[in-house]
Amino acid sequence: MSFSTLSPIPMAEDVRAACDDCEWTGLAETCSDIRNPSQRLNAGSEVPAGECPVCGCLAYVEKPDEPAKREEVSHAGLPPDPDGQNDDRADWAESALVTFRDKTGTDKDDALCDLIADLLHWCDRYGYDFDNELKRGRGHYWAETQEGGGW
Ligand SMILES: [Zn+2]
Repeated sequence: MSFSTLSPIPMAEDVRAACDDCEWTGLAETCSDIRNPSQRLNAGSEVPAGECPVCGCLAYVEKPDEPAKREEVSHAGLPPDPDGQNDDRADWAESALVTFRDKTGTDKDDALCDLIADLLHWCDRYGYDFDNELKRGRGHYWAETQEGGGW
């Protein structure tokens, strides 16, 4: 028995936890003991389920009333994220695609391509130059993925 670890609080078997840092979610019982809890936990804050088995950061029990975590997103090989907002940006795009799929019934594999095609129709009707907007969008993306920020 070591005093430098804190055993995860006992859980029902099907309780799920999510990592605070990476995209890991899984059964709370698969979390590891928390190392150096006195340095990592603040009095009064939520007690973690344990350490994330993937990255070792703290994982917390998922609240049943929280919306389901979005589909597993791989962070491997992602470009730099200097302002830490690129996950949010991807989420905003995901919201647009979800809405588009709701409206059209397009399946997941075709949704992006169909949305782009429909944006071309939209540009015809509202006087935008799609290629120019694409160029501007790529410029924003470029700036948002440079080490240290490209702005
Ligand atoms: Zn993690």
